Amino acid sequence: MTKSTIKVRFAPSPTGYLHLGSARTALFNWLYARHTNGKLILRIEDTDKIRSKKEFLDEILDDLKWLGIDWDEKPIFQSKRTSIYKKYASQLLDKRLAYKEGDAIIFKVEKSRNIKLRDIVHGEIDFNTDEIKDQVLIKSDGFPAYNFACAVDDYEMGITHVIRGADHISNTPKQLLFYEALGLNPPKFAHMPLMMGKDGAKLSKRHGAVAIVEYKKEGFLPEALSNYLILLGWSPGKNREIIGLKEAIKLFKIEGLGNVQARFDVDKLRWINGEYIKNKDTKVLTNLLEDRVAKNANRNYLEKVVDLYKTRFRTLDEFTTLTRAFFTDSFPVDTEAREKLEKYLKDDKTKKALAGFKADLEKLENFNEKNIEKICRDVAEKHKVKPAAIIHSTRVAISGKTVGAGLFEMMELLGKKKVLERLEKHL
Ligand code: GLU
Repeated sequence: MTKSTIKVRFAPSPTGYLHLGSARTALFNWLYARHTNGKLILRIEDTDKIRSKKEFLDEILDDLKWLGIDWDEKPIFQSKRTSIYKKYASQLLDKRLAYKEGDAIIFKVEKSRNIKLRDIVHGEIDFNTDEIKDQVLIKSDGFPAYNFACAVDDYEMGITHVIRGADHISNTPKQLLFYEALGLNPPKFAHMPLMMGKDGAKLSKRHGAVAIVEYKKEGFLPEALSNYLILLGWSPGKNREIIGLKEAIKLFKIEGLGNVQARFDVDKLRWINGEYIKNKDTKVLTNLLEDRVAKNANRNYLEKVVDLYKTRFRTLDEFTTLTRAFFTDSFPVDTEAREKLEKYLKDDKTKKALAGFKADLEKLENFNEKNIEKICRDVAEKHKVKPAAIIHSTRVAISGKTVGAGLFEMMELLGKKKVLERLEKHL
């Protein structure tokens, strides 16, 4: 006997953008399918005629691909399957388990029954049908209600495991009732604990962006975002935090899905993103950054800036803000940096030292890191100021910031002309 193939599905409603929670659900379905050599089917739940939009669908599919998720077979659209839902609803009418109300078909829920859900994540959950109203199967517009379409499709598509968010737990007894009434075997269920904000409250805009597309725009790398999302509710063991999808496929076990509330922590995500950035090949990273910096930036120069800053930025957006002074003369000067520079320049000794630094740099033929540093130390000694005073004030003058890469490396990369111009401007 051949082992039956695992078949899972991801079922987005194209009524909004893909958000963090559903992306995580998609990732777990995908990991399970790929781990078991099974199949992942995409089912588009587009039965809400008014709220479903093509632009949402396109973005959802783009985002899934961007995150590294692929699927088998062509996506299934519920809006094209109304006759199938009607066929199943008629069976229930024939069995007198449903009744008509105008054009709508309603399922009659038998009272005082116990419905047991055996959930892979949550264990056994009992429901009493007294708490479940009669259920709309087909709405008067001819479209199916969510729960009915979901049950019919999961059966029709041969879905073996339903992995979805815990917000659907209360829907499951209704779906179980439909399977029972139709005489069908239900799939297995695994409800992922909901993703919460860092403060434990339901994740919302208040905690920051929830749409994947926002993270894409801000310059998170897809591999970092997928990595982070799969850690929310699953662990590769040994406290590992950096794990690529390829390896996660090998290690993934559905039983490993934890029943602990996952908390979305954007700082942790930034850290992971920074790790991926650090380890990325400079040329590849530069490709990603190219259209975020000045259009006329020289490629070779850009690669050098990327290399210099690679360990210092955690999103592509951060790179742009950190390195503005490398690409334009009209870079902003941070308030804190301006105050610091003003303070230094008020000190006569430092001001003179800086002027001396500039004068000696002007005479420097080979404008490289080592030579610049030597001049800096010599000038500091001569003027009896701390090298730090020259270093800090020069940094602000040439970059508008108090932080950044090593000053002498920055100066070499910026080049003699720019450095002198900017020092001149401030003295
Ligand atoms: N369209 C539903 C949602 O986006 C799918 C629920 C399910 O996976 O059954 O929440």
